[in-house]
Amino acid sequence: MASLRLVAPQLESQHKHLFNLLKTPGSIKTLNHLKSIHVRLLQTNLHQDSFAIGNFIIHCSTLGCMNYAHQLFDNMSQPNSFVWNMMIRGFQQNQESRSALVLFDQMKIRSVIGDKFTYPFVIRACNDLLEQSRGKCVHGEVLKVGLEVDVFVGTSLVEFYSGFESMRYAYKVFDELVVKDMVVWTAILYGFVSKFGDVERGRELFNRMPNRDLVIWNIMINGYVKVGNVDDARTLFEHAPVKDMLMCNTILGGYVRSGEVEKMMQFFNDMPKKDLVSWNSVIGGLVRSKRCSEAMKYFQKMQMLNVSPNDVTLISILLGCAQVGALDVGKWVHSYIDRNSIGLKNLIGTALVDMYSKCGELESAKSVFENMLERDVVSWNAMIMGFSMNGQSRKTLEFFKRMKTEGVDPNDATILGVLCACVHGGLVDEGRRYFASMSNDLGLTPKLEHYGCMVDLLGRAGLLDESYRLIKSMPITPHTGVWGALLGACKIHGNVELAELAIEQLIQLDLEDGGYLAIMSNIYANAGRWDDVSKVRELMKKKGIGKIRGCSSIEINGEIHEFGVEEKIHPRAKEINEMLGEISHRLKWAGHFSNKNEVLFDVEEEDKEKTLIFHSEKMAVAFGLIATKKGTVIRVVKNLRICSDCHASVKLISRIFEREIVIRDRSRFHHFKDGSCSCGDYW
Ligand code: ZN
Ligand code: ZN
Repeated sequence: MASLRLVAPQLESQHKHLFNLLKTPGSIKTLNHLKSIHVRLLQTNLHQDSFAIGNFIIHCSTLGCMNYAHQLFDNMSQPNSFVWNMMIRGFQQNQESRSALVLFDQMKIRSVIGDKFTYPFVIRACNDLLEQSRGKCVHGEVLKVGLEVDVFVGTSLVEFYSGFESMRYAYKVFDELVVKDMVVWTAILYGFVSKFGDVERGRELFNRMPNRDLVIWNIMINGYVKVGNVDDARTLFEHAPVKDMLMCNTILGGYVRSGEVEKMMQFFNDMPKKDLVSWNSVIGGLVRSKRCSEAMKYFQKMQMLNVSPNDVTLISILLGCAQVGALDVGKWVHSYIDRNSIGLKNLIGTALVDMYSKCGELESAKSVFENMLERDVVSWNAMIMGFSMNGQSRKTLEFFKRMKTEGVDPNDATILGVLCACVHGGLVDEGRRYFASMSNDLGLTPKLEHYGCMVDLLGRAGLLDESYRLIKSMPITPHTGVWGALLGACKIHGNVELAELAIEQLIQLDLEDGGYLAIMSNIYANAGRWDDVSKVRELMKKKGIGKIRGCSSIEINGEIHEFGVEEKIHPRAKEINEMLGEISHRLKWAGHFSNKNEVLFDVEEEDKEKTLIFHSEKMAVAFGLIATKKGTVIRVVKNLRICSDCHASVKLISRIFEREIVIRDRSRFHHFKDGSCSCGDYW
């Protein structure tokens, strides 16, 4: 192609122009541009020029076109070490470390000597491929050619040994470097602190450093937080000459992890600038500490400041809604997801299913579940647990079958949901079968919770002996849940002997919650054994066993109102008291007599000093009646099990006041309507 040949002066200016272009980083932006430059290299006869090709390869590497580079490289008759180095570097930086090492071998076969620009990338390639012994061999070669004093090679070796947590070698390499720059200081600190978790050694190095930049400060502060030492992290933070967002968020995250909510909020409020990560930390931290109403306040504040939430925020808030039964906020989040076309991906979909289930809105839970774009075992578990908790035992089992036909393998949480459904539905045969299939067919080992469920199921059905035999046959030591379930069953069936056996075990397990002793005193009372009742009471007093306070919450217009929490007087207390008076009056007319036994002995879980009418769930229901329009469903979440007097009262309230009332207690849902409850008085 003679017409394409250029004459000498023209050629010289072309070369100059091409070299300038090739030397400028980022000057070639697309593959097409790269190809046209390639053509010009051929036209100008530069395709064998090592300097031109070496620089060309750098552009190939940046654009992720190492295959293209490889073709050019193969056509070169005598590439010099610069070209070899750029190829090795390009492969290593494009996650093709295997090719980098192959090329390094070929380089040696062709007797091209490696230099300080070769070894760092070869060592990094060994690190990428986790080839520890290969890396050590390369280190040997480095020593042979005397390059260990080079700071670039040294840094790559420090990173290499840190990667394998061989900090002794890493430090040795570091120590022997005559010239240490910021990069190698950073590498050794990162190795000790971030990779190895040795903050003490890291701190020594930190103190010895001639200069400290923002990266160094961040490594050290993050190191303290990672080992759970937030106080030292905070002290260091206060000394940092410059603070960035990352540093602030690290401290904030530390408080979230250590559960120091007050300090977390104080720190957050003092932060001059906040980004999405900071908002997510504080909201997630509050939800984790079960301080949901505060979490929602921050969520609202965040929106007022026009900070858009992401999946993490929404999932935290949904978790919070599920905890306290805040259906309105939960629905708002759902509509936000729809409005912003976020899509029901796995995690967010599951969080919605869980939220609706725990607010007793099974239809919505199911509709979200059916519309989810992807579902894993956790999503199925949320749906199965939802049906189970809401007393829909048949639906639970139906979904469990469907899950298997859709090819999703159940895990032990799935089986727990299924067994709970059997307990709530009194399905003894099914329960036995699923429990047996757990180890026989699914290869899952039953955990304490599964045994607890089975003991509960058998015991409630009056099969106390079988229940006790199951406990005796357990390969793991039964916990309070298992013995507690047996005790509860003994209460239902008035079996004093077995109850005594159970309580003995419970006392040995060093119980802190007085509930079990209260149940025992109740069992004695029902059997007329008053002497024993006083003995148990004495024991409770002696052990200083406190009762867990009953606490109920209700959401009105997106705000959570809590009842039964100490030192919190509701602003509308007067109206609530009037309502409680009216309720008690109308209940009497309807023929309800308070279960005196409950007042005297069933201090099982609720505070005895309070009369029954001030049980927290009744206060929440009373408030629901005055604060919502007629026809609105009243939803209450209680931290303990509902007592039988409240259960009987709320059944009547639902008829007298023509209100649907949903109460979620510690173990299940009660949907009260027209004077009856979905649990069929079986809870
Ligand atoms: Zn009650
Ligand atoms: Zn019920």
